[in-house]
Amino acid sequence: MKSDEEILEAVLRGELKMHEIERAVGGDVLRAVELRRAFVEKKTGTHLKHIGHFSLNAERAMRANIENMIGATQVPLGVAGPLRVKGRFASGEFFIPLATTEGALVASVNRGCTAINRSGGASAFIVAEGMTRAPVFRANSVEHAINAINFIRENEEKLREIAESTSRHLKLKEIQPFLVGRNVFLRFVCETGDAMGMNMVTIATDEVSSFIEEKTGLKLVAVSGNVCTDKKPSALNFILGRGKTVVAEVVLSEEVIEDVLKTTKEAMFEVVMRKCLVGSAFASSLGFNAHFANIIAAIFIATGQDAAHVVEGSLGVTTAEIVDGGLHFAVTLPSLCVGTVGGGTPLETQQEALKMMGVAGGGTPEGSNARKFAEIVACAVLAGEISLTAALAARHLTQAHIRLNR
Ligand code: NAP
Repeated sequence: MKSDEEILEAVLRGELKMHEIERAVGGDVLRAVELRRAFVEKKTGTHLKHIGHFSLNAERAMRANIENMIGATQVPLGVAGPLRVKGRFASGEFFIPLATTEGALVASVNRGCTAINRSGGASAFIVAEGMTRAPVFRANSVEHAINAINFIRENEEKLREIAESTSRHLKLKEIQPFLVGRNVFLRFVCETGDAMGMNMVTIATDEVSSFIEEKTGLKLVAVSGNVCTDKKPSALNFILGRGKTVVAEVVLSEEVIEDVLKTTKEAMFEVVMRKCLVGSAFASSLGFNAHFANIIAAIFIATGQDAAHVVEGSLGVTTAEIVDGGLHFAVTLPSLCVGTVGGGTPLETQQEALKMMGVAGGGTPEGSNARKFAEIVACAVLAGEISLTAALAARHLTQAHIRLNR
């Protein structure tokens, strides 16, 4: 086997590609990571000392999570809570791990948790569930497309059998057909146990698509036809849901609003109405909320979720209604794509963060860990929305950012 110097020279001369280093070092992943980092250091003239410091299992990460690995990025991790959650799956007090670089975010969510706890806790409800993938097919004519859709409707049982043969944990719930000219989109909606499910649904969809091509003469153009809709803002996800659709609510008493949030129920109501509803409508935003994405992004990074699904997580509505003695406050998240197995969840720090909430790995019964996690996330989003709305109402937001974010 060649020495490190010889391998590095070969990469620098362009005789060996970066992704070929593993093979050159006989599969020694850590050595390959070091050599690749040394190559990038030489090429860019940058010392990558901190990127080279990590404790995660590089071998496992390189099997499922990363290619051309040179190290790891560190993001500060804070904790908010405990947060009292009253869900069907999550019941009790939970600490919320938040990985972020935005000063004031953790403090803000933490204050929201206090307001919720002093109001008796937040309730959370999963009202719909299903990860989606929608391939696009080309038909010969509109009539051909309609006939093919009829075939799919009539043979759903057979299609379900094929889809479910690809995984021990996937259940095909329905296929939603959409027709645009000669384009046929079939939106597969699946339950995926404790996994977020994007790989599982794609594998199942691919298998069923081959059968559909064979039986109907439709031509598969792409296994993802953007009607899924994965990682792009989409009204379809807003309306039909993707991943888990979760609603969380709390009634904040006037005393809590005054003591903890330093404002009034009228001022908070006005912020939600004029900002989250009127402002978002005017901007044609799909996020009728204050900052779902902030809390979603920080939890997703901490727990190994696919960070690009913050796009789906940013969708949703914050509502507030003045009630006797307080303010009813709720968040509706139509498209929360979360899992407690698969993807980035087995990475070491991400596992620890999931364990903190008692949701690491597969649940008993199956799917219960992912559902518990979804309820906790929704309540954390509720805490973030309450706190930011109150800060805006009391005109404290700018001061908090000057103090904590500069
Ligand atoms: P995955 O890691 O690909 O699959 C989950 C695995 O866990 C499966 O092998 C499943 O078994 C197994 N499993 C064990 N216990 C389970 C349980 N209790 N519930 C469910 N599954 C269980 O994860 P995924 O969630 O499907 O996909 C997530 C990954 O997809 C992320 O890395 C994400 O970045 C990526 N992604 C992929 C696409 C795409 O188009 N493919 C798009 C977006 C994101 P079985 O083998 O029996 O199913």
